[in-house]
Amino acid sequence: MKPHRQRDALSDRITAYIGLGSNLDGPSGQIQHAFMEMGALSHTSILARSHLYKSRPLGPQNQPDYINAVAKLATELEPLVLLQALRKLEEAHGRQRTDEGRWGARSLDLDILVYGDICLDTPELTLPHPGIHLRSFVLYPLAELAPTLVISGHGTVQALRDRCHTPAIERYEEAANE
Ligand code: ADP
Ligand code: MG
Repeated sequence: MKPHRQRDALSDRITAYIGLGSNLDGPSGQIQHAFMEMGALSHTSILARSHLYKSRPLGPQNQPDYINAVAKLATELEPLVLLQALRKLEEAHGRQRTDEGRWGARSLDLDILVYGDICLDTPELTLPHPGIHLRSFVLYPLAELAPTLVISGHGTVQALRDRCHTPAIERYEEAANE
């Protein structure tokens, strides 16, 4: 079936949810800056941002805890253009992709969790992001912004969050009040 894009009533803007994560070089500051920078992307604005959360790393455990959050964007950028813009932000934050493992430490990770109601499965971009239903650090902040959002094939964000407790996660109060 041809995917169609959910547009809001007033413009050509699509609602997208972005997962943010960092565990290097002042993680909460990295996330706070990334929120501002995403809001400054062309044809894009931030509609909402979650609190910050602290979570244990997925995969290799010999790395610092992560700070995670989710942003709700309204954007006119096509999915691959948005992905490219997010990669540029990761690079501007000093992210090195070369010798880190897939789940290695990183200064900034920006994943497109959901883009309207588009489903895509290509090597470069999978939508919705395939790890959403398994990751506490995505589901806790996403449930703040979109509890009734349905992740295709998995159910609502709220129900998924209620069943998902790994990796260990807690609210990061200090940074959330900055
Ligand atoms: P991860 O986020 O899985 O830890 P990376 O950030 O290094 O790993 O991303 C690896 C690749 O995943 C990227 O080069 C990107 O092309 C691809 N990718 C596939 N789907 C998505 C998505 N929904 N959001 C962000 N990247 C994605
Ligand atoms: Mg990523």
